[in-house]
Amino acid sequence: MVEIDLRSDTVTRPGEAMRAAMAVAPVGDDVYGEDPTVQRLERRLADELGFAAGLFVPSGTQSNLVALMSHCRRGDEYLVGMEAHTYKYEGGGAAVLGSIQPQPIVQAEDGSLPLDALAKAIKPDDPHFARTRLLALENTWHGRVLPQDYVVAAADWAHSRGLAVHLDGARLFNAAIASGVPARTLAAPFDSVSVCLSKGLGAPVGSVLLGSETLIGQARRWRKMLGGGMRQSGVLAAAAIYALDHQVARLAEDHTRAERLAAGLRGIDGIRVLGQFTNMVFIDVAAARLRALDAHLRNAGVRVSIGYLPTVRLVTHIDIDDAAITHVIDVFRTFPGPAFNA
Ligand SMILES: *Cc1c(COP(=O)(O)O)cnc(C)c1O
Repeated sequence: MVEIDLRSDTVTRPGEAMRAAMAVAPVGDDVYGEDPTVQRLERRLADELGFAAGLFVPSGTQSNLVALMSHCRRGDEYLVGMEAHTYKYEGGGAAVLGSIQPQPIVQAEDGSLPLDALAKAIKPDDPHFARTRLLALENTWHGRVLPQDYVVAAADWAHSRGLAVHLDGARLFNAAIASGVPARTLAAPFDSVSVCLSKGLGAPVGSVLLGSETLIGQARRWRKMLGGGMRQSGVLAAAAIYALDHQVARLAEDHTRAERLAAGLRGIDGIRVLGQFTNMVFIDVAAARLRALDAHLRNAGVRVSIGYLPTVRLVTHIDIDDAAITHVIDVFRTFPGPAFNA
């Protein structure tokens, strides 16, 4: 039975060479600051992306949370996209655990938070209001690469108003590969950046938060408090270093396969492809047909993301090859009528 899992790029499994790198990694107790492999990962990403320091954390959610908690205090507020991960998909952690109020902003089609909407949302210094402290952006957002001229303008605006700027760069390297702009340039306007190793890069676990020495020192305290202080985590950092060494450039293949998948699906009667961005394809399927489609795909060994978003999402990654794309297109083609949107 084939198993082609397009639900997310988080489902990747470490290959032989990555596991070999994990097996031989020198390790120590990272809570004591003694894991050389974790330190090598943090130093390497900090240098590559142009920051003073880095912090290895168990997940992207914790990375964003410790960033928000380090930028903001209790009673502060951050400006964030209404459909941003840090607002919508992290369990309300900033509010629940950080006592930080989100100010969600309706995003434009390209994922940007319009500057005029930001200007209206920022609060004056008045006891009626939470203190607006931070602007949080996301790149890529639902696969879309945020326009860099927008990013620069938004960060300049935020800094001119005394706000810090955080990037949820879970898929920053997808943005860099797709745009041809170095990740370091994409990261430059920000005071902190979070990068996931466990998405398209293909490592099993972990994210790294980058920022100044002061910010990362604060984030380290929050990480411990939140239960994210890990011990011999060098075995995980070794997988991340392997991914950075060998699995960044290949993200281009995921993007090409997503393009091929979108083109194939567009050729099928009744499927409406809403868009393809980097390694993601979104299609529109009538709610009444979703369960039948899911069953049909599962019978053929294909998993897609259904029900979690208003649309069906298909994500390419390192475990999806050309043959898998061909198979998936065939399986969609044989979905028995009525049409997808009937
Ligand atoms: C996956 C993701 C995260 C969170 O990562 P986890 O490791 O799943 O907690 C944050 N932001 C974005 C944009 C993501 O896609």
